[in-house]
Amino acid sequence: MALAGLEVQDRGYALFSRGMVLEGTRQGKRYSARIKGSAPYPYRAWIDLEKQDWGCSCPYTWGPVCKHVVAVAYAIQEAPEIFQAKRRRKKKTADPKQLALQELSDEALLELLWELSEQRPELMEEFAYNLLQRTREEWG
Ligand SMILES: [Zn+2]
Repeated sequence: MALAGLEVQDRGYALFSRGMVLEGTRQGKRYSARIKGSAPYPYRAWIDLEKQDWGCSCPYTWGPVCKHVVAVAYAIQEAPEIFQAKRRRKKKTADPKQLALQELSDEALLELLWELSEQRPELMEEFAYNLLQRTREEWG
């Protein structure tokens, strides 16, 4: 990166070669990665090759390019496998109710199921039937 000073370039390369560039993603020509730095949380730097644009979440303001962006630039050239193509989001977005259930412990889930069975016995019958069917299929 010609825009980066030599020192920034060196530091950026050092970051890359020490494996500080954590997992990255690629969306078209936009490369983005998390870079481990001195802060407790990694910075996120990105480069858009098509738009010739870049940015970083770090507070560096002394030049147009910070070492994290340089590290990403090196990673694109030398270790493009870091950047995984971003999959399109599944159409089915997670049901918030389902997410809430996943947060529950086994005991809480059982309790919930127990309550449900008292309120809606027919639902429990259906549930039990389906479970039985599935078990039968699995066991042949
Ligand atoms: Zn930065």
